[in-house]
Amino acid sequence: MPLAEAVPNPYQPSLVRIHDFLDETPDVRTLRLQFVDDNEAGGFAGWEPGQFGQFTVFGAGESVFALANAPWRPNGDRASAPTIECTFRMVGKVTSALRAMSKGQVIGFRGPYGNHFPVDDWKGKDLVFIGGGIGMAALRSAMLDVINRKSEFGDVVILNGARSVGDMVYTDEMPGWQEVDGVEVVRTVDPGGETEGWDGEVGLLPNVFEGLGLDPDGRIVIACGPPIMLHYLFLSLGKVGYSPDQVVTTLENKMKCGIGHCGRCYVGPFSVCRDGPVVTWAELNELPKDY
Ligand SMILES: Cc1cc2nc3c(=O)[nH]c(=O)nc-3n(C[C@H](O)[C@H](O)[C@H](O)COP(=O)(O)OP(=O)(O)OC[C@H]3O[C@@H](n4cnc5c(N)ncnc54)[C@H](O)[C@@H]3O)c2cc1C
Repeated sequence: MPLAEAVPNPYQPSLVRIHDFLDETPDVRTLRLQFVDDNEAGGFAGWEPGQFGQFTVFGAGESVFALANAPWRPNGDRASAPTIECTFRMVGKVTSALRAMSKGQVIGFRGPYGNHFPVDDWKGKDLVFIGGGIGMAALRSAMLDVINRKSEFGDVVILNGARSVGDMVYTDEMPGWQEVDGVEVVRTVDPGGETEGWDGEVGLLPNVFEGLGLDPDGRIVIACGPPIMLHYLFLSLGKVGYSPDQVVTTLENKMKCGIGHCGRCYVGPFSVCRDGPVVTWAELNELPKDY
């Protein structure tokens, strides 16, 4: 047997084609990707909410993005081939190269990697999803999973915050989420980011969250956003009575290999790509403060 067949290379990506995309904002795009090879599509293990992938733009490099659509479980009720969605913000070399690509072009994908949100543990509970900017991308798979089987969960509040009206992601689909019984969507922009006719909230996410007055009793908070937002959100959560084990977040430390080999994303002994990226606020409090 040739050596290449005997020793699988964990860094070798599958090829996926850009089937479709949606420009969410001037610098954020959602891609819909499909496997080029039917055999790879058939053998794909699927993903759980909160996991991520490594996406390769050949000649530019790899970037990590959350797997943003509802989980794909090959043994579940899905008969069709998987479509992988990711939502990315253009910030540098790889994401600019990716943004320049068109429908039909091919990129690399490896994954899924990392742990996942414990969605089944939330059954019967009230949930609040709090996403700041592109942080919404890391929550979307869990949100869609919950919305798709809403009867198994309590009330759901989705708080989507952006710097300005033009920076808000998932504007096309939020009305659909809001239509589901027991789901409330709250949109907010930073002061100064509102436009004439804006009918959402104006205020920073932690302040708007506090203003909702949601009783912490038995409620789970799932949050993702920039570190400064999380810092103030945790202060707000503590102030209104949430305990650290009621709050789940996902870390976005810079990483390279995605599989715990290279050490790039370690926080003390914690490998964000292998042991995370999903952590509770309680677990975060145990980590060295360099995440
Ligand atoms: C688990 C995980 C999930 C992620 N999910 C998403 C997602 O769903 N959507 C999305 O848009 N981004 C996500 N990111 C961040 C994304 O990986 C980086 O923005 C991207 O790799 C930047 O690549 P680049 O070559 O374009 O930027 P570079 O040219 O490498 O850097 C451009 C700028 O971005 C900063 N940067 C690079 N990587 C990160 C990072 N990981 N965190 C913060 N700043 C960074 C650099 O410091 C620099 O200032 C995620 C990161 C992790 C670790």
